[in-house]
Amino acid sequence: MTDTSVYRQRHNETAEASRADADESVAVSERRRIAMLAPPWIPIPPPGYGGIEFVLALLCDALVSRGHEVELFCAPGSRSAAAVRPLLDRPHPESIERALFEADHVARAFAAIESASRPFDVVHDHSGYTALAMADRLGVPLAHTVHGPFDEDTSPYYAQHARKGSLVCISRAQARMAPAGADVAAVVYNPIDVDSWPLARSKEEWLLWVGRFVPEKGPQRAIAVAKAAGRPLVLAGTVQPRFERFFANEIEPHVDGTTVRFVGEVGGARKQRLFAEAFAFLMPIRWPEPFGMVMVEALAAGTPVLAFAQGAAPEIIEHGVNGFLVNDEHAMAALVDRAAEIDPGACRASAQRFSPRSVAEGYEAVYRAVAAAATSA
Ligand code: UDP
Repeated sequence: MTDTSVYRQRHNETAEASRADADESVAVSERRRIAMLAPPWIPIPPPGYGGIEFVLALLCDALVSRGHEVELFCAPGSRSAAAVRPLLDRPHPESIERALFEADHVARAFAAIESASRPFDVVHDHSGYTALAMADRLGVPLAHTVHGPFDEDTSPYYAQHARKGSLVCISRAQARMAPAGADVAAVVYNPIDVDSWPLARSKEEWLLWVGRFVPEKGPQRAIAVAKAAGRPLVLAGTVQPRFERFFANEIEPHVDGTTVRFVGEVGGARKQRLFAEAFAFLMPIRWPEPFGMVMVEALAAGTPVLAFAQGAAPEIIEHGVNGFLVNDEHAMAALVDRAAEIDPGACRASAQRFSPRSVAEGYEAVYRAVAAAATSA
């Protein structure tokens, strides 16, 4: 039987548990006043899809519990241990990356930051591309977490604008791809609160893929792997604008409700149960995945990950310990059954190094360097 009895209200209980842990507080001289700039698209924590929003939920709670003063500029409907400062009238999950909303959101945030009654020490930006590009117009130093890959679109942008802030990458693999002129101040992994995930020691027979239905994330390859391995597959996630045709052509024809099941966008306890009960999680990526939250979520739930050795996967997956690294669908299919040899406890233990505390410590070092540079300027 699957043990899913340890579900908790992740967000609230985490914040309360952290607040109760007085030992976590940093020295008064190290406490910062931080303007955390979230994207305008999705509330924090996200009801379903939302990698950056999960990161921000945990990061804000951890920073507040460590004694920092954090104001979270974000989409309406957000909840946090930080002071919540919604900017636009509504979230815009249907318009991700639409300049209209991003510019409006960032301009309002900059106005609020500049007119704050007490100055901020640092703006920590996760909001897309507008804020970093305009950071030299702002009186407060800005740190920018790079959430996407450096590719042919974004590399010229970072080469041009990175010097206006402090760049933080979310994996070493991502940092290695930074273009000339874009200095990376630090690598800080994304956080996961392992204790808020159920650990399932016995597994169902089906394989799992969760994410955005885009070709580079490989849901179509997950289908091929599951068929070759002779196991059912559960697919969960979002079909974002511009990818409806990919979904209709490459995914939908295979969905039959038994061998391939599509369960749509998932969140909360239902999502956690999927991650915990799956026989293995498939990550057949063909792109430089900057981090891949779904990998550490599977590990937290005690589920081995079979991943293509691209992007951050080799930094997260240890071959034979918490999953397997392979180079193509054939090798992945051939190893699927061997996921039974992987210890769910070892998977969960391997996710502990991404604790919110260690991530908060990583960002504290960034804020310290930003503050020192501002003082010496
Ligand atoms: N996610 C979710 N429900 C879905 C699909 C995705 O909650 O139906 C979450 C997933 O669990 C993960 C995040 O969205 O936390 C996606 O982050 P990841 O880094 O894997 O991918 P990204 O889309 O940011 O490249």
